[in-house]
Amino acid sequence: MATVLTFKAFAREKATWCPGCGDFAVLRAMQEACVRLRLASHRTVLVSGIGCSGKITSYFSSYGLHVHHGRTLPIATGVKLANRDLTVIAAGGDGDGYGIGLNHLIHAIRRDVDLTYIVMDNGVYGNTKGQTSPTTGTGTITPSSPAGAVDEPVHPLRLALAAGITYLAQGVSSDVPQLARLVEAGIRHRGFALINVFSPCPTYDRLRTYQWWRARLINLDADPAYRPESRAQATEAVMTQDGSIVGLVYREEGRPLDVRLPGFSPTPLADEEITPRLDAVRRLLDEEYLP
Ligand code: SF4
Ligand code: MG
Repeated sequence: MATVLTFKAFAREKATWCPGCGDFAVLRAMQEACVRLRLASHRTVLVSGIGCSGKITSYFSSYGLHVHHGRTLPIATGVKLANRDLTVIAAGGDGDGYGIGLNHLIHAIRRDVDLTYIVMDNGVYGNTKGQTSPTTGTGTITPSSPAGAVDEPVHPLRLALAAGITYLAQGVSSDVPQLARLVEAGIRHRGFALINVFSPCPTYDRLRTYQWWRARLINLDADPAYRPESRAQATEAVMTQDGSIVGLVYREEGRPLDVRLPGFSPTPLADEEITPRLDAVRRLLDEEYLP
């Protein structure tokens, strides 16, 4: 009898996020997507950053790296280039990805590294008690902006499209089926996929609740006139409604880095036999380091 796989195939220890945290839904969507794609845990790598969302590597059954603040993408890039046969997913929060790690995002996009990057965007630094983050709206009162945030927030979809992204989507934690579809399509995409997720933090953000999001979301997937392969339509959507659209925003054929690199081995570098030239190592040590 054929085994029926459920999301539990990618479940590990019990998540300790606060009750109602949007990150539970993101975890579930990722698990559903990986099961539908019939991925194997031991051929999948999840790299996560610092923050509440970064704990996701402990709850997801795959190889996992919980790395330095903001450094998910360079490390995920290294994993993919070392073993192109692995499915590599990167995940983190808005502080990690759009603050300290923003520069890496732009470069991963222009290189079109074959990764799926999922950002749990709650507009606060939840792990350190709710300070303003790069995506906090102007005027929002937080512990670090008692008179209201003064800065214009980062607009991740606008930045990604301008940098040349080949797969761009946005989801919300209240719609796991849509989120799972977006993640599944992002993993299938050969190239860099960014999925920004409105993931509420009910502990430190009492404004942007699930109800608040439901009242203002526009679902591009349900609009027959919206064509995600049209850069003009995507540009119009992200320049005018990036804070409220969900669905597949833009997709074009990828130009993955591991295919474009000249002379890059078709077999994974990790599988290559490395024979140390001991004579050369000894000569080097003798010449350079020994008196
Ligand atoms: Fe989630 Fe906010 Fe709690 Fe962190 S503080 S686990 S983001 S609800
Ligand atoms: Mg955050």
